[in-house]
Amino acid sequence: MTGNEYQRLALTTLNPALSGRDILINGVMGLCGEAGEAIDLVKKHLAQGHELDCEKLAKELGDVAWYLAETAHAIGYDLDTVLQMNLDKLKARYPDGFAAERSKHRPSE
Ligand SMILES: [Mg+2]
Repeated sequence: MTGNEYQRLALTTLNPALSGRDILINGVMGLCGEAGEAIDLVKKHLAQGHELDCEKLAKELGDVAWYLAETAHAIGYDLDTVLQMNLDKLKARYPDGFAAERSKHRPSE
């Protein structure tokens, strides 16, 4: 499955009553909310003695992906483009793979 295929399928579950503005707001709020759910699972594991439920964490990552697809759609981007833009940025930042020195001294964006 490509990012665009995922985005197309995910958006079939988008509320059709939402305006473009509402889709953008729902998307970015959803990204934060689902990232928070992922963080909470790891927090409980690290600080409260819970077993790390990797399946549940994976499902939260999927929820993040849904809101990523929605937010990209809201700004007129397909998911493959967003993913490629990120890889291009990382390749420029770390042309030979991660390097701590390049991380410490990278130009601001
Ligand atoms: Mg969730």
